[in-house]
Amino acid sequence: MPRSAIVVGAGLCGLVAARELADAGLAVVVLDKGRAPGGRLATRRDGPARWDHGAQFLTARDPRFAEMVEDWVRAGVASEWCRGFGGATDGHVRLRGVPGMSAVGRWLARDLDVRTTSRVASIATGDGLGDPAIETVGGRPGPRGGPHWRVVIDGDEGVAPGHAGDGRITTSVLEADALVLTPPVPQSLALLDAGGVALADDDRAALERVAYDPCLAVLADLDAPSALPAPGGLEPGGEPIGWIADNQAKGVSPVPTATIHATARWSAANFDRDRDEIARELLRAAAPLLRVGARNRRVHGWRYAKPAVLHDGPCRVARGLPPLVLAGDAFVAPRAEGAALSGLAAAVALLERMSSGRSS
Ligand SMILES: Cc1cc2nc3c(=O)[nH]c(=O)nc-3n(C[C@H](O)[C@H](O)[C@H](O)COP(=O)(O)OP(=O)(O)OC[C@H]3O[C@@H](n4cnc5c(N)ncnc54)[C@H](O)[C@@H]3O)c2cc1C
Repeated sequence: MPRSAIVVGAGLCGLVAARELADAGLAVVVLDKGRAPGGRLATRRDGPARWDHGAQFLTARDPRFAEMVEDWVRAGVASEWCRGFGGATDGHVRLRGVPGMSAVGRWLARDLDVRTTSRVASIATGDGLGDPAIETVGGRPGPRGGPHWRVVIDGDEGVAPGHAGDGRITTSVLEADALVLTPPVPQSLALLDAGGVALADDDRAALERVAYDPCLAVLADLDAPSALPAPGGLEPGGEPIGWIADNQAKGVSPVPTATIHATARWSAANFDRDRDEIARELLRAAAPLLRVGARNRRVHGWRYAKPAVLHDGPCRVARGLPPLVLAGDAFVAPRAEGAALSGLAAAVALLERMSSGRSS
């Protein structure tokens, strides 16, 4: 039976890690609570309208990420968007997903066993013979005798997390030798806590220091193309708007739509306010930039939008437990590149940990 791993999170980090682990011969299952892979590389659709509502563009500084991005361009899921905003060109290439940012996640998920609408509810360790009633990554029988990971999943049939259409909770359990956790760190810690996993004190302290800024995003239909200057994205400076984009000018949406991101400061101060009020206030602030009417606004709250306090090191291998690595953008840099590089580091660290057999 091949060695096996569960990767929680089908964002960039989790997908990059999963591809590396699968290439190394591991049986891998990726679990994500979302309806599609990609995580914060996300595109929302409604009829013909489209919005990139998380990451807006990709930049590559590290040669390893540049190589990945070249692969995406060759595959037709990314292309150069521009070399600067607001009329200024600084020469640095910004890429967009084609047709939208979520295309990158879909491409990376190909050939992998990625299970979406699968919300992990808790994570525990197991130490017995594989229970024939429990699915094991890579097939039955389950991990024999040795320590392994046991992940409890609430399936989402489209009504509410963990509930089938008829109200049944569709809970399942999956086991594997090793685990990679890529949700934002506070969410990963909550999953381990829910299953009673005791992290070593230094691991917990280092992980609890990681912190994120939130971002409130307004997604609006526009009555006509906006007045935003080419290439259709702008950082206006000041409060409350951190970023504004015309998804039609960007090439994401066939009809005019706008994505408005509030600044981290404004988002933190207003995160729990009424969503209609948030939309009204941000659209009022955006009106002089868009200079067209906006309808049907939706608000998306990214509670963990961008890491503000990073972990020291590109991933964290937990001590004293079956093979476990935590990773994500917060372990390298607060952008897509950081997530991808952390995914690479996590795969290398997990393989090393599995081959050495060390647990401390
Ligand atoms: C508003 C915004 C704007 C941004 N702009 C840019 C930009 O212009 N350029 C740039 O480079 N970066 C940008 N970023 C940052 C970039 O999106 C991230 O750095 C990167 O996508 C993070 O990838 P990740 O894999 O680490 O995390 P994520 O993409 O967050 O992936 C984690 C995954 O874990 C899943 N998950 C969480 N909990 C569970 C659970 N219990 N069970 C199952 N699955 C779970 C989530 O659904 C998610 O898919 C932006 C981010 C935001 C939010």
